[in-house]
Amino acid sequence: MALLTTPSPAPESNANTNFLRPNSSLFNSESDEELLSVKSKSRSPRSSTSENLQMLSLRDHYEINGDLGKGTYGKVVQAVCKETGTKIALKILPKSSTKLRDFQREFNISYYLSPHANIVDTYNVAFETRASYVFALEYAPLGDLFDSIPPQIGMSEQDTKTVIRQLASALEFMHSKKLVHRDIKPENILVMAPDFSRVKLMDFGMSRRDGAMVRKTNGSIPYTPPEVCEAVRNESIQVTTGADVWALGVLLFCMLTGNFPWENADIGDIYFKEFILWQRRKTTKVPSQWRRFTPRILKFFRKTLEIKPHRRSSVKELAKYANDPWLLQATEIGNVESDSGTEAEQVDHLSIMLRDHGIETRVDKRLRDRRISEWLLTL
Ligand code: AMP
Repeated sequence: MALLTTPSPAPESNANTNFLRPNSSLFNSESDEELLSVKSKSRSPRSSTSENLQMLSLRDHYEINGDLGKGTYGKVVQAVCKETGTKIALKILPKSSTKLRDFQREFNISYYLSPHANIVDTYNVAFETRASYVFALEYAPLGDLFDSIPPQIGMSEQDTKTVIRQLASALEFMHSKKLVHRDIKPENILVMAPDFSRVKLMDFGMSRRDGAMVRKTNGSIPYTPPEVCEAVRNESIQVTTGADVWALGVLLFCMLTGNFPWENADIGDIYFKEFILWQRRKTTKVPSQWRRFTPRILKFFRKTLEIKPHRRSSVKELAKYANDPWLLQATEIGNVESDSGTEAEQVDHLSIMLRDHGIETRVDKRLRDRRISEWLLTL
């Protein structure tokens, strides 16, 4: 069974591998510090928009208190606005790998969707430094949902329901505006309250209009729908709200189990193949990792994780299942028709055997990223 580790796009899909360097700072280029025209110093970043970007020095206006997240796209830092004392998050996208158009799209979509209670607040603050494009977001001190999902255990059914309802509401709002998020995963959900009573969707860097044609540029992760998995790099694919519905189904599985249902929604993946055989009613035997769920939520999974995007249900479907039990009691699980000895279970047994012999088969995402970075530095 796939373990819940943070997936990242395949390294070859990085536009600029420099951003994988562990110690590369977007601020350490002298350019940001040098860039101080008297005019821009005296202006407040609060008045700028994505169409009218002011050239500013970050450090003149903000005290930077460290990274909140870092990736191939750039980084998010925690900052305090020197003028108002407000704690905020700044998303910093290097010009070397970000087109102005892409920056404007992300900022505009984030800002436009901000009024929804379950979408991160984006402030009307966007500016450029010599090296980067920057915009400001509300700061979430509790971080993202990834760290709240205990690996191989999952979250409680109650907490999962609390989170997933809010997320479905945010997606319903987006979809009603004919926008598709396209990157639903725990790392893109901010936790605003320890009891999960407020979570917020963020990161609209991949968001596009429903129906738009885009090129496949990133590798696949477990949340990627099959129609995107099967496309080759640079192939044109159509953006559909079904991509978010699929990812919501995968996310729900991850939250309730602490595992991914598969590595890739590709028929070459044994866990995916088993699911699809059951999903298409080729067998009545529920695949082993799905046997803990009630028939009701299995019905939801069947409709959400439908291979054909046009047959997939909408996010509104979740509301029909919100008040049903989702997880079986331990005593009920044995009664679900079992299919012992499947290929997937044999892999599970093999993993346990290897672990017993001191061979670790889990993938620690952070460790893997560091190793890739170190390897790139040696090239
Ligand atoms: P992003 O590239 O926007 O997905 O952000 C990368 C990571 O930075 C996220 O997974 C979060 O852990 C963290 N992060 C982003 N925005 C915020 C924020 N507004 N407040 C706190 N953490 C954030």
